[in-house]
This record gives sequence, structure tokens and C-alpha cells, in this order.
Amino acid sequence: MEDKHMLMIPGPTPVPEKVLLAMAKRPIGHRSGDFSKIIAEINDNLKWLHQTKNEVLSLNVSGTGAMEAGIINFLSPGDKVLVGVNGKFGDRWAQICEVFGLNTVRISADWGQSLDTEEFRSHLEADSNKEIKGVIITHSETSTGVLNDLKTISTYIKAHGTALSIVDAVTSLGAYDVPVDGWELDVVASGSQKGYMIPPGLGFISVSDKAWQAYENCQFPRFYMDLGKYKKANQKSSTPFTPPVNLMYGLQVALQMMHREGLEGIFSRHSRLTAATRAAVKALGLKTFAPDDCASTAVTAVDPSPIGAEDIRKIMSSKYGIALAGGQDHLKGKIFRVGHLGFVSDRDMLTGIACLESTLIELGHNFSPQSGVKAASALMG
Ligand SMILES: *Cc1c(COP(=O)(O)O)cnc(C)c1O
Repeated sequence: MEDKHMLMIPGPTPVPEKVLLAMAKRPIGHRSGDFSKIIAEINDNLKWLHQTKNEVLSLNVSGTGAMEAGIINFLSPGDKVLVGVNGKFGDRWAQICEVFGLNTVRISADWGQSLDTEEFRSHLEADSNKEIKGVIITHSETSTGVLNDLKTISTYIKAHGTALSIVDAVTSLGAYDVPVDGWELDVVASGSQKGYMIPPGLGFISVSDKAWQAYENCQFPRFYMDLGKYKKANQKSSTPFTPPVNLMYGLQVALQMMHREGLEGIFSRHSRLTAATRAAVKALGLKTFAPDDCASTAVTAVDPSPIGAEDIRKIMSSKYGIALAGGQDHLKGKIFRVGHLGFVSDRDMLTGIACLESTLIELGHNFSPQSGVKAASALMG
């Protein structure tokens, strides 16, 4: 059937009809007074979402572009950085740092486990010469469904005093409580196609006063990605270059919707969907890949062995029009990932779980009928 495709991947995520309709309007001039009002409203709501007084800048890039901007504006070649690596996206951070010639120390954990906060503490405490200039963390590691303990690590960074915290919050912002000021996070990057409920194409980055001080000493060349330009424009409710005007229309409406739901509502919905998904997966006799105590509220990775992850994905897509994500790198074919991030309701989740049950029956898996739906329903409101 046409137009019945359902995204259950961790980005791009489903987009509300209100947002799609807002984006269907004619573009207006980005230097006009009317557009300036839209930017002003968006900026206020971005600060609200980030729980910060810091400037939150919007860039015409995907999430990775915001991550790169977070490196090349606040550090300098040769600077020492600690990078948490326990999945694909942590590894991407480390690659960016290496490409730009930073002295990159990887703090690694197995894919599927959370980063060991004590390792960060010992590196930071031992650094009496204050050589560590940045600590780079992926909050929600989308490749494995693991949520790293950013709150604890950020206390060690503060105790160190010099290092900036540089955070990938691409799949935690809008799905989990990320109090940027409360945790004193310096640089926080995110992307539009994840928790923001709009299509891909915008990256966001919040910058603390301390990070702006580091910006003054930054030695990397940059032009389009020079965040100073964005800050200056932002303060006049403007942008340095042409923004994706129609995406901004969508963002305006999406942020209004988020505001009406409220942060508490958003976070409790995501934690409920996560608990329901995990309960269903277990009831069906499949394994959740990440431990319960560090489960991402954006995505659940499932190890369905001995059933083939790709077999499940194929039937879910061809028979039910539901897109699930596969495993990345060495996890390809070993896991599948269920996105429950952004514009996702209890009904969507129950639909996905019922279709998963039906798929498992087709693949000859032995489980007690309706156990997944029952387990999930018991946790829903
Ligand atoms: C999606 C994602 C990104 C950004 O990927 P892009 O394809 O560049 O938007 C970065 N980090 C995490 C954890 C993600 O889930």
C-alpha cells in the first residue's frame, strides 16, 4: 500500500503532519523581518530544550557537521583530548579528532557496554599540567543503544577545570534529560532528524562561556564553520548564510509542539516507550543488546540469535512497511535496532511489536503468543 511506510529507525524519525504542512509553504527572504521573528522564537525554544542560557546555534549540516564544528572551533592542532569510544559514533568522534591532528586518547569499552566513568576520572586527576583540553563523549551511543553516564563524567571534567566537555547529544537531546546548564556542558551537538521531529538537514550546537573563551585561542582555520559568525548573527535573530528556510518553518512548529508536551512529558514518554520495548523483546525470548541500567531512551538494539536479524528486518519491511535499523560494522547482521525517538506514540510501539511477533511466527520462532504485546501494554499509560 502506498504512503504507509513507518520509520522505526533512530533517524530520520517520523515527522508530524503539522510540521510537513509548515514546510510546504513558500520560502520567504531570510533577511526579512518576518523571518527574523521566526529565528527569534526558534532560538528561545532551542534554549528551553537544551535547558540553557547559552547560545544554541543552528547550522545547515547533519549531526556530524555539528560535531566537527565542535572540534575545530574550540581546540587547536596537537591538543590532547580524551574520547569515549564504545560504538560507531564514539569512534567517529575519535576519527574527527585524528583527522585534525589532535593528540587523541581513546577511552574504550566494548560495544554494548557503557564507558567506565572511573577511567575518565583517573586520566583527569592525573593531569596536573592541565594538558587535556577536551573530553569528548557520545551521550546516547546509537549504534548499540547504550546511554553513557555523562552526568558523572561531567563532574570530573569540572573538577579538572581546564578541559571542555564536548558532547554528542544527537540521540539524547529530546529523548532524555540533558540539562546543559545543570551539568555545565560546554559544547553540545545534535541533529534535526533525531529528537527534533523534523527531516534531516540542520545541526545544532550549544556553546558555554568557557567554550567561547577557548574559541578566542583556537588555531584551526575555518570559514563556513566558524561559529563566531553564527553567534554574532544569532544575537540579531539572523544567520550568517542562507538557512534552509523551509526546514526552519518545520522546526518552529516542531518546537512549539515539544513545548506544549513539556520536557517532563517528553522524557517520560521516551522512558515508557523504552521500558515497553525492552519488556516486549525479553518476553519474546530475544535479547536486549545493552544492559538495563544504561539503556538509551532513543533506540533499543536487539540480538535475536539464533534468528537472523536481517531476516527479521526484511519481513518487517516487505510485509508491514516498517523500517528497522540493522547493526553497524562488526554488528552487521547480528543485531537490529528499534528507534523510539521523537514523534513516536504508545500506539506506534504496539504496532511495531505486534508486527515483530507476526514476523517471528513466520520465521518459526517459538514463543508464547502475544507475550510481547502483553508485556508492552502492561507498561503503557
Ligand atoms: C545520527 C547520529 C549522528 C549524526 O549523524 P549524521 O548522519 O551526520 O546526522 C551522530 N551521533 C549519533 C549518536 C547519532 O545517532
